[in-house]
Amino acid sequence: MLPQELAAWLVASGYPKYRAKQVFGWIHKTGVSSTDEMSNLPRELRSFLKDHSFLTIGSVETQHKSKDGSSKLLIAWPDDQVVETVILPQRERLSLCLSTQVGCAMGCAFCATGKGGFERQLTSSEIIEQVRLAESVAQRPATNLVYMGMGEPLANFDQTIRSIELLNHPQGRNLGMRHITISTCGLVPQIERLGELGWQLVLAISLHAARDDLRSELMPINKKYPLAKLIPACKRYAKDTGRRVTFEYALIAGVNNGERDARALGNLLQGWLCHLNLIPLNPVPGLPYRPCSPSEIREFANKIERMGIPVTVRASLGQDVAAACGQLGGGRAGDEHFRKN
Ligand code: SF4
Repeated sequence: MLPQELAAWLVASGYPKYRAKQVFGWIHKTGVSSTDEMSNLPRELRSFLKDHSFLTIGSVETQHKSKDGSSKLLIAWPDDQVVETVILPQRERLSLCLSTQVGCAMGCAFCATGKGGFERQLTSSEIIEQVRLAESVAQRPATNLVYMGMGEPLANFDQTIRSIELLNHPQGRNLGMRHITISTCGLVPQIERLGELGWQLVLAISLHAARDDLRSELMPINKKYPLAKLIPACKRYAKDTGRRVTFEYALIAGVNNGERDARALGNLLQGWLCHLNLIPLNPVPGLPYRPCSPSEIREFANKIERMGIPVTVRASLGQDVAAACGQLGGGRAGDEHFRKN
């Protein structure tokens, strides 16, 4: 609940309004794991909150640490469903990659989460709880959040948006909108809704192909929202918010790194407020796609740069523990794999 909703609920239940600010601070500033820790509340109010199962608490079942410093957490919910959350420490920054769904219905051909299908939506509380748990493991506060873990954030639009409202609230964490990235496979109506909010978030589009035939093969959502709909929606987003749109493009050897792919990408991205992130594909066991070599990536990046499009070549973190983009979703079975290997 937002502070005003919390206040209305507490007042209707016979408690003074000012308690709402205290409770909100305990949850979103202190990050308590139990209502018993809310030490400036009367015992009776703490019991009331407990009786209403007020806090959503998950538990970290396992942590896999990569040799590059990142870690993947397997977080279990009371209904025994699990999600994965990734901790990415980078000097003074601590970025967290959050999940928004258990599984995913989008079925992208290169993605481990998509392979497993959709189980359920996460609530905004479960999204925020990932932040609390990851911070307690990392023992430092998060500076950046990326909604890029398991699931399609914009297919869980209301809960995703609510979690951001709560994380951004000045009485709580007060995490700046510019420090939050939402990644989507390209749900056009939701991109438009997001743009209408006018928030200063970073919008990242998982593009991965600049031709409709190939994109529809890699990302089935493209059949519903082809590039002729997606790109204008992104341009409107940039216009509505004044924010540069980021495109993610995982280079897959022999699939999307050819001359005509570079030309098609140039045609889509030239001349407007956007930026391209090139990443090597992160391989998923059982899927036929392989990453490009570093020299192939550099060559592709040079072609795009020559067309005047800002490009960054990014390294993927957490590959050795299947924590990199596209590799999440192993769940408990994936954990078993790590134990055995
Ligand atoms: S890439 Fe994202 S949207 Fe596509 S299947 Fe994987 S989690 Fe879902």
